[in-house]
Amino acid sequence: MAKSVAKPAETRGEDINKATNAIETSETVENPASDSPVKDETEISIEKKLIALYTLQQNDSKIDRIKIVRGELPLEVEDLEDDVAGLETRIDNYIQEIEMLEKQVSDKNQAIKESQVLIKRYEEQQNNVRNNREYDALTKEVEFQSLEIQLSEKRIREFTAQLVMRKEEIESAQLELSDRRNDLEAKRSELTDIVAETELEEKELINKSDQQQRLIEDRLLVAYKRIRKNARNGLAVVPVERDACGGCFSYIPPQRQLDIKLHKKIIVCEFCGRILVDKELADSLN
Ligand SMILES: [Zn+2]
Repeated sequence: MAKSVAKPAETRGEDINKATNAIETSETVENPASDSPVKDETEISIEKKLIALYTLQQNDSKIDRIKIVRGELPLEVEDLEDDVAGLETRIDNYIQEIEMLEKQVSDKNQAIKESQVLIKRYEEQQNNVRNNREYDALTKEVEFQSLEIQLSEKRIREFTAQLVMRKEEIESAQLELSDRRNDLEAKRSELTDIVAETELEEKELINKSDQQQRLIEDRLLVAYKRIRKNARNGLAVVPVERDACGGCFSYIPPQRQLDIKLHKKIIVCEFCGRILVDKELADSLN
């Protein structure tokens, strides 16, 4: 029943309050409606409101979908920017570490040279000693410097191994960095394209939404926006589907479904507060 909008109803003022009360109090079911096949002014008026609300909902859902598509891309771009910055920092750190290791290797090489000079000097002095005690003391010095050289050589081997490792790590980080930079560039241009592509469509939808909103009285519109804001999927107006609320899927008893179909009052879901429209009305607008 009640598929088409008949003549324009001029009973706005009263109906606004009735309709809004129904939403605000969730006290929705009136007396089981008349069986009269002829629609009265209230029915026509409520039907128009429901149509306007459902049309607005469909339009706003389209805007939501555009935002979802675009909404993930900036995050992906941001993540890639973080990855790139992280890799750049890591490579910088490796470079600094390599410089430090190279400095340590050269310091140790310098120390070895100094030890070698000392050893040479001690050995020369041993040719001119006056007694065994002096000779033994110089031998000890030579041994000590030889040990120093061995220690430095051991350190140099360790530093060199670390250098090789760090250089390999830099290489793989640089490969990863160039991959990430390519990904980032691709995502950035994708985002630019999508923004350019959807900007116009979104603007048109927003304009359309504004026009549709002007057809709906303020208190009903406020209720619509409030429900929409609180609903996770942005749905404030939903059809009854398979005996259930199309928003929260709670069961709707037959009598209540009948009331929804009669368009005598704006009825909201007892469980989630969404405005309910009958499937026939929804289908006629899809
Ligand atoms: Zn519900």
